[in-house]
Amino acid sequence: MVHVDVMDGHFVPNITIGPVVVAGVKKYTTLPLDVHLMIENPEKYIDAFAGAGADIITVHTEAVTEFYSVLKRIRATGALAGLAINPETPAGALEDVLTELDMVTVMSVNPGFGGQTFIPGSIEKIAAVRRMVDRLAPVVEIEVDGGITIENASSVIDAGADILVAGAAVFGSGDVSSAIARFLAVSAQGD
Ligand code: ZN
Repeated sequence: MVHVDVMDGHFVPNITIGPVVVAGVKKYTTLPLDVHLMIENPEKYIDAFAGAGADIITVHTEAVTEFYSVLKRIRATGALAGLAINPETPAGALEDVLTELDMVTVMSVNPGFGGQTFIPGSIEKIAAVRRMVDRLAPVVEIEVDGGITIENASSVIDAGADILVAGAAVFGSGDVSSAIARFLAVSAQGD
């Protein structure tokens, strides 16, 4: 799928794109659009991103005060619902709401900019989230976002990730297709 990083200059320092660009991307692909909202007050923009073609809408637990109303809003659009946690947020923050979700996103860098280095402690955290998901809500998919490279991909998968987000490792590789093929080959080895 196509992962779209939306940043607002408030929740994170950087500003990226909004619903207009998501709608533009939607025209060029039939792949699901996985829209990662790194924004404050995400509840205000869920309808706009769903209308633009988001298939999965992920909000940050650090940006949400009324989880159930945000969730209801995402569900009402028909999109799948994801919840992301920053590196400093413990895995336990997901526990109470895990059964309500389709996906959780473990951030393995501090969100805000592409091209950052994977935080090594993330491996333990992914494993902790894996155990929690297996125990409480095995259908929930675990996505890992930040600093993914072809070198660390297999350890991230071994720790329990279902979905890897790769930005710089794909688009900075000079050959997008073969970079994606290499990631798919790593993931196939784990099957
Ligand atoms: Zn992201």
